[in-house]
Amino acid sequence: MRNPSILIIYTGGTIGMRRDVSGILVPFDFNTIEQEFPSVRNLNVDISVHKMSPIDSSNVTPSLWIELAEIISHNYSHYDGFVVLHGTDTMSYTASALSFMLTNLAKPVVFTGSQIPMGIMRTDGRENLITAIEIAAAVDGEGHPRVPEVSLYFQNRLFRANRSTKLSAEALSAFDSRNCAPLAEVGVNIVYNTELIRRPQSWDEPLVTAAEIDNRVVVLKLFPGISPQILRTVLSVDNLRGVVLETFGTGNAPTADWFIDALREAVERGVVVVNITQCQAGGVFMDMYETGVRLRECGVVSGSDMTTESAVTKLMWLLGTKQDIDVLKAQLEVSLRGEITE
Ligand code: ASP
Repeated sequence: MRNPSILIIYTGGTIGMRRDVSGILVPFDFNTIEQEFPSVRNLNVDISVHKMSPIDSSNVTPSLWIELAEIISHNYSHYDGFVVLHGTDTMSYTASALSFMLTNLAKPVVFTGSQIPMGIMRTDGRENLITAIEIAAAVDGEGHPRVPEVSLYFQNRLFRANRSTKLSAEALSAFDSRNCAPLAEVGVNIVYNTELIRRPQSWDEPLVTAAEIDNRVVVLKLFPGISPQILRTVLSVDNLRGVVLETFGTGNAPTADWFIDALREAVERGVVVVNITQCQAGGVFMDMYETGVRLRECGVVSGSDMTTESAVTKLMWLLGTKQDIDVLKAQLEVSLRGEITE
């Protein structure tokens, strides 16, 4: 039986740093991964590396998402799975974006990174990388990939990409997925949550990648005391196409006329407004309180329990598809890639 083949795509971030002889942090050469970590050979996986121009993930823009989607699409038939190495700061945004941009995906795309550079003795990068490769290469009894969706592996847990969030700037266990259980938990063995893992409708539909992302969107986080002037200024930005409105609790917002009128006018101008909660867990139920009902009445769409990362990237992707606005709004409210609890 042939070894599974995995393409590692390196985009940058802390995981890709090592100390040179003078002690300075310099980029790690992933082409030498098998020399650096001989234990990788025990995985019986054929590894290739595609190195992009390394950037800190704070500099990521949708053009990197498009480039990544193209690299995966170009190499799709040649590899059994993909591991994307990415800075942790915006990893959940890129991973969420890719989950929407890769239609008919039937192979694993596992994102990972590290909090401590690869070249530092105590790095978390080594374990994250090795386990991400193992997960990307894992097959079930029928020979199908165990996790044929976009996922994010960090510190012993595999998350659905579009449910993940970076919650700690300090802890090695930096990511969580509060509204969705891990797809796998890693101890002595890797225990897959098979019930939860999405499987494609067909294993051999051609992969379709998004060619366009529309970034004319804004995230507006409500806070007590937000002023009418600021709200109106944000909503009247030229060419604004979408707003991710981070509301309170189960999707509640002020009921004052100035607030509701400003939103209604934006919606009437064709701006798509999607309501998500700024709480870490739970979601939006706009029919529960008057403060939510008024949003629904002025045409705001429910983002249910989507994360901010998921709502922003889903909105950008849907706007980029240039479809009818009512169809687009309906798609925002339903789960397309497991991003919403059904
Ligand atoms: N600033 C880095 C980045 O996101 C942090 C990291 O990789 O953990 O690119």
